[in-house]
Amino acid sequence: MNFDFTEEEKQFRQEVEDFAKTELPADWDEKALYWPAGYGTLPGLEKEFKEFHDELLLKLGRKGWLTIGWPEEYGGMNSMIKHAIFDDVMSYHRAPGGDVSNAIAGPTILLVGSDDLKKEWLPRIGRGELRFWLGYSEPNAGSDLASIKTRAVDNGDEFILNGQKIWSSGAHIADYAWVLAKTDPDAPRYAGETLMIVDNKSPGITIRPIENICGICSFNEVFFDDVRVPKKNIVGEVNKGFYCVMMALLYERLFVGIGAFRRVLDELVEFAKETEHNGQPLAKDPLTRDKLAAMAIEIEILYGFYWKTAWLMDKGQVPVLEASVLKLFGTELGRKLAGAAMEILGMYGQLKRGSKWAPLRGLVSLGYMDSVSGPIGAGTSEVQRGIIATRGLGLPRK
Ligand SMILES: Cc1cc2nc3c(=O)[nH]c(=O)nc-3n(C[C@H](O)[C@H](O)[C@H](O)COP(=O)(O)OP(=O)(O)OC[C@H]3O[C@@H](n4cnc5c(N)ncnc54)[C@H](O)[C@@H]3O)c2cc1C
Repeated sequence: MNFDFTEEEKQFRQEVEDFAKTELPADWDEKALYWPAGYGTLPGLEKEFKEFHDELLLKLGRKGWLTIGWPEEYGGMNSMIKHAIFDDVMSYHRAPGGDVSNAIAGPTILLVGSDDLKKEWLPRIGRGELRFWLGYSEPNAGSDLASIKTRAVDNGDEFILNGQKIWSSGAHIADYAWVLAKTDPDAPRYAGETLMIVDNKSPGITIRPIENICGICSFNEVFFDDVRVPKKNIVGEVNKGFYCVMMALLYERLFVGIGAFRRVLDELVEFAKETEHNGQPLAKDPLTRDKLAAMAIEIEILYGFYWKTAWLMDKGQVPVLEASVLKLFGTELGRKLAGAAMEILGMYGQLKRGSKWAPLRGLVSLGYMDSVSGPIGAGTSEVQRGIIATRGLGLPRK
């Protein structure tokens, strides 16, 4: 067992650090208020940052950093440890390091896609030319995706799509949808859905942004009215979409934005050192020290899961259990960190972004609200515990 990085990995970390410092605008810390493991404050989902993010993706593509974990034949570096280092550094800076396209769609296509699908989509994803949104949830289907109603009907070379998706993060700024639709309503559960790529510009698509709890339009409701989807856009096989989405969800669950935890802790430690409370630095207050130490330990535990998962993937394993552990522990920790931060900042922590009295630029009041989103998106905490119970502990399904 070796707990250190190689010299090459350390150099790579430095290279990403230098890139982040050069490429992020000088006022980035003021603008980007991403809360660790939250879904509602990701700068990559905000319209305001679209142009900047589009350009950043192209730059990352030129450096080969959108495909770090991919095999070399698809332009990758074949290293999930390096990918994890990259994400750690970029999320520390609250920067959008990648996108649904390279973090979720690309790896899923690599695993389940046909050669033609790989040829058509992977190079473009790797170059950072396009962005996806995830079309799984519907008004009456979230945890139970077998009950979706969006219907795709076979029409020769194409499918005709009708239905509605909801909570579709980033649909308003993306180029393509990654849609799960019912193709055989009479099939047994999990055997009648198909995953397909849908051009956002197709006639018949209506996208309506929804404002989230933080006042940011990060997600949408999306309607499909007789949308034509070429059959060549099927991911995996027809009626095997449920399995493909389980793979895609696994990749999504790895996406914890771990560096942002470290960043919040650093900022809270700095705040405690600089702030006077009852005539002495807050850093000398036993309750504050207690909360900071408790958070430091839990963040270290999260890093333990994080590096282990990347290491397992480099050994060729598909980390079904680890992805659920990471997602569950990370998003619940995002909530705990928000609670601890709010208590450390006191009443001022509740002030909104924009108030001159709001500590840490209003980050904590926003993060406190956004932290409710993490344990719900990409499969709720209860669903993750169910996976851990069956896959990890070998308990029966019901
Ligand atoms: C900020 C945010 C962004 C999102 N972005 C997207 C997106 O881009 N694309 C997308 O498709 N969806 C997205 N979602 C939706 C998300 O995937 C669903 O909200 C989630 O899967 C839960 O579904 P639901 O809300 O329908 O709740 P339900 O499935 O109705 O669940 C309600 C409650 O019942 C519990 N429950 C349900 N089933 C079980 C079970 N088997 N065992 C134990 N408890 C159970 C749940 O844990 C939950 O507490 C997003 C959600 C959030 C919060």
